[in-house]
Amino acid sequence: MAELMLQVEEALDRVLDVIEPLGAEEVPILDALGRFLAQDVHADVDVPPYANSSMDGYAILAADTAGASAETPVRLRVTGEVAAGYVIETPVMPGAAIRIMTGAPLPPGADAVVKVEDTALEEGWVQIFAEAPPGQYVRPAGEDVQQGARVLRRGTRVRPQEIGMLATLGHKTVPVARRPRVAILATGDEVVEIDADLAPGKIRNANSYSNAAQVLKYGGEPVLLGIARDRVSDLTEKIRAGLALGVDLFLTSGGVSVGDFDIVKNVLAAEGEIDFWRVRMKPGKPLAFGQIASTPVLGLPGNPVSVMVSFETFVRPALLKMQGAVWARPTVEAILVDEIPHKDERRHYVRVHVELLEGEYRAHLTGGQGSGILSSMVKANGFAIIPEDWTHAPAGARVAVILLE
Ligand code: AMP
Ligand code: MG
Repeated sequence: MAELMLQVEEALDRVLDVIEPLGAEEVPILDALGRFLAQDVHADVDVPPYANSSMDGYAILAADTAGASAETPVRLRVTGEVAAGYVIETPVMPGAAIRIMTGAPLPPGADAVVKVEDTALEEGWVQIFAEAPPGQYVRPAGEDVQQGARVLRRGTRVRPQEIGMLATLGHKTVPVARRPRVAILATGDEVVEIDADLAPGKIRNANSYSNAAQVLKYGGEPVLLGIARDRVSDLTEKIRAGLALGVDLFLTSGGVSVGDFDIVKNVLAAEGEIDFWRVRMKPGKPLAFGQIASTPVLGLPGNPVSVMVSFETFVRPALLKMQGAVWARPTVEAILVDEIPHKDERRHYVRVHVELLEGEYRAHLTGGQGSGILSSMVKANGFAIIPEDWTHAPAGARVAVILLE
């Protein structure tokens, strides 16, 4: 087994090399929330579909209001009324006005609206107290979206505003990328299920759940396979059973380091092919990657923070590629408030809380940076990235911070 330690980018390239985009499926509109569009969306109608009023008031001819003011009002005869949801055929003639409500289609002939606050009604006539320039309070057809325009791009993550646009365009169902099915298997004789009693020497299975939540966050469907003992036979059996379920990606956690019972690499090599197993990053140095049959397998590290950092770094991009997703990760430049201790030649992903202060982002350490300290992960909203070639990271240094929200 090669003793190779890859740079983060090279390791990621090797992972992405074997990741194939999945197919598409049509889902009911609300089920598209958080998923990725499988096709561009074009408008087959103008939005709004017809010119309409943006105010309650009177549809008029702009020219009729020339010179109107509070002192010199213009009097127009009221010849009709139109509410939202209805159409009036009567045209607005010179010297006339039609009462109109917000959202109602503009009557034929009208080219502006006077809002009700600038008028006074009297017995079939309306006094206009302000000049209306042509187009005032009129929302033209296609003002929002023109027929034929591409409104949403393939790969877009569907948020509530995309749902609104899809509804406006009449999409009761939406083509989205199929959700990657991701097997998640914990390893370790010390690891027990979350509802089990904590017998001496045991800890609860945090990783399967944090990873499953990350899978959900990035559009996938977690398939929880429980916990494998640190025995080649048990791990082999559970991996085979998981693969038989037809998953798109297989994740394990723990057992990839150099301890006597770290058997994930051996099982991966025996069952399939191992590509690499160490990455120049902290936390997250041990990381086994390979394939069994044609399913990519990532042996993530066991420590509860390492496993999440490795997921963000390698699994997130893989899930996005499977879904054809265009979803840039927000990154800001921030000033380190605290010195970061123990810098070595790996890329450090440091748990920080970033806040905007006087126009600049400041990154505070959220606590101990040990790879098992989940409480500092809980307080973090980002990872400060300390490059490989920095020998130390003093307070005041400017660093890139990956934002997690
Ligand atoms: P390992 O690489 O298997 O030695 O695991 C590294 C550390 O992570 C050990 O302290 C394990 O107890 C811990 N660990 C492994 N798997 C899990 C898990 N599923 N949940 C919480 N901690 C774990
Ligand atoms: Mg272990």
